[in-house]
Amino acid sequence: MSEAIYDVAIIGGGPAGMSAAIYTGRAHLQTCMLEGLSTGGQMFNTATIENYPGFARIDGPDLSQKMETQAKEWGVEIQFGQVTEIQRAGELFQVTTSDKETVLARTIILATGSTPKKLEVPGEAEFAGKGVSYCATCDGAFFREKDVAVVGGGDSAVEESLYLTRLVNQVTIIHRRDRLRATKHLQERAFTDPRIEFLWDSEVEAIEGEGTVKQLRVKNKKTDGVTILPVAGVFIYVGMRPNTEFLKGLVQLDAWGYVEAGEDTLTSMPGVFAAGDIRSKGLRQIVTAVADGAVAAMAAERYLGKRGL
Ligand code: FAD
Ligand code: NAP
Repeated sequence: MSEAIYDVAIIGGGPAGMSAAIYTGRAHLQTCMLEGLSTGGQMFNTATIENYPGFARIDGPDLSQKMETQAKEWGVEIQFGQVTEIQRAGELFQVTTSDKETVLARTIILATGSTPKKLEVPGEAEFAGKGVSYCATCDGAFFREKDVAVVGGGDSAVEESLYLTRLVNQVTIIHRRDRLRATKHLQERAFTDPRIEFLWDSEVEAIEGEGTVKQLRVKNKKTDGVTILPVAGVFIYVGMRPNTEFLKGLVQLDAWGYVEAGEDTLTSMPGVFAAGDIRSKGLRQIVTAVADGAVAAMAAERYLGKRGL
């Protein structure tokens, strides 16, 4: 990687990181964005987005591409590499990737978002990619005309079930309670969709199959009765885990592992800012992630300005 010293290194290329990049780029701050997988983050894996202002309906990959293009137009350098460590190096920060490449920067914007949680049941690891999926947009097409299950009761589970109904024969949502957590608007759509059924108060005990997923063992928590649900695939949406392991004490985290930072995006370490889903906050959405990105970029600019950098 480059020997240059960047004004800002943005870690993570989801909506928070890309918004920060657009703002730092426009402010003529020399900016490097490091992304471990592909730009767009969770947004890239979302089939259709219906709540991002300005677009009544837009595909996640499309919105991701538009943000990336906009960031590049402002001179932002995008480098691909999984960041494994950030250390203070005098007045600078040294960012290290899994390939042992390093980047030096005067400020850091943390925007690494979160990753889907595992269900932690027998068969989940064995059948990962063979019927077990965490991304309906990526894998839904493999289950055309087949029956699938979705585990979870939040926005992700319901929204992605609605997406799957366009492809598969039948979706069974398995939820551990008798009430969904998802927003009312999504609930109403799911309840009236003939291709969606519900198994309430139920937990998946095991994912079973031969080579690929064939069935789920589902236990009703109220009756203790076990049902065998024949499905070709299971999509798991049981919440998210913040991507903060690599921070190793650089900044303070809350009890759930999110970076402690308020609306001002300031962390416990001067010069390090946190934007998007990685931050302790009430609403994790694309619109709040991009708002954080803008705030973090301006905070970084002020930090540099105060030091005459
Ligand atoms: P992310 O989108 O998670 O991006 C983080 C990026 O950082 C990723 O690209 C990741 O690869 C990268 N990264 C992680 N660790 C490292 C590392 N160590 N080094 C380098 N790079 C790293 N919100 C809406 O507003 N509308 C919706 O319709 C909607 N649908 C959703 C559907 C699903 C299935 C899910 C899971 C979420 C949905 N959300 C939706 C929520 C929304 O996607 C997130 O709130 C938003 O993407 C958060 O943006 P972010 O930039 O903070 O993090
Ligand atoms: P979430 O809101 O945390 O919901 C997780 C769901 O999984 C809950 O229903 C939970 O049950 C269930 N669950 C958790 N652990 C479980 C386990 N071990 N076994 C079985 N079920 C389990 O997560 P999410 O739906 O992924 O949403 C994450 C964030 O992204 C949220 O802020 C959400 O609003 C946002 N998002 C927004 C949209 C949108 O705006 N359209 C779409 C997708 C996601 P309980 O209900 O019993 O806790």
